[in-house]
Amino acid sequence: MPTTITFLGTSSVTPAAQHDTACFIINRKFLVDTGWNAAINMLQYGISPLDVEYLIFTHCHHDHYLGLPQLLFYRVMRRRDRPILPPLKIIGPASDVRKVVALATNLLQVERFPELSHPPEIFPLIPGESFECEAFTLDTVKSLHPVEGMAYKFTDRATGAAFVFTGDTAFHPPIADLARGLPLLIHEASYGAKRVPPEENRALHSSALDAAEIARMAGVERLALIHCAEPQQAEALAAAQKIFPHTFFPEHGQVVEV
Ligand SMILES: [Zn+2]
Ligand SMILES: [Zn+2]
Repeated sequence: MPTTITFLGTSSVTPAAQHDTACFIINRKFLVDTGWNAAINMLQYGISPLDVEYLIFTHCHHDHYLGLPQLLFYRVMRRRDRPILPPLKIIGPASDVRKVVALATNLLQVERFPELSHPPEIFPLIPGESFECEAFTLDTVKSLHPVEGMAYKFTDRATGAAFVFTGDTAFHPPIADLARGLPLLIHEASYGAKRVPPEENRALHSSALDAAEIARMAGVERLALIHCAEPQQAEALAAAQKIFPHTFFPEHGQVVEV
C-alpha cells in the first residue's frame, strides 16, 4: 500500500463555495488541519471522520482549526457506528493546541450535554521537536508566521515514504533543509504570483515563487501548492513552474501517492 494524501482543500483563508482552506488527510486517517469543514469534505471522498486517528495542526489560526468542533461533534454523534472509538489524538504547537481544543470542546457545551464528552488526547510539540508513534514519525522546523507554527516532515513507518508539508509561513530556508531530496513538498502560496518584499510581508505568508524557490533549493521531485485563493491559482502555478517545473495545484479530492 503506497502512502496517500487526499486533498480536502487548497484554498486560502476564506474559501469559495465547494472549496475549503488548505487541509488534507494522509493514509485516510491522519488529518492535517481541519479547514472550515474537514469532516464533511472527508465524507465526500468516502472517508469517515471516525477513521481519523491523528489530527496534526500546522498552527492555530482560525482557518486551520475552525472545523475542529464539527469533527468532534460528528465523532460523538456517530460513535454508535464504532463500538470502540479511541479518542482523537491531536498534535500541534505547544503554545496554542490545548487552548484551541478547549475552545472547540466549549462550543459543544459538554458540561451541559455530558453525552458529547469524548476528550481528545493532546500532544503539544515545540517547533524543532520530533514525534513518533507506531505508524509515522514527524520531524519539525519552526515556520515564520505571526503565531507559533511548524513545517512537518512526515515519514510513513510502514512504507518508508516521506514528504514535507508547511502550514502558513513566509519564505524560510530551513524548510528546504527539512525537505532535502524528498519526493514531495506541500507548500503554502497565499500571495499567488505576487512577490511581496520582506518589509511588507507583515502577515508572514509565501508567494508561489517563494514556494518554488524552497522546492528548488530542497531538490524535491514535486511541489504541491496550497493555501491560495481559487481565482489566483492558475497564475500562481504558471509563475512557480518557471522556477520549479514540477509544480502542481492539487484538485479538490485529488489523491497523491508518495
Ligand atoms: Zn491560513
Ligand atoms: Zn496562519
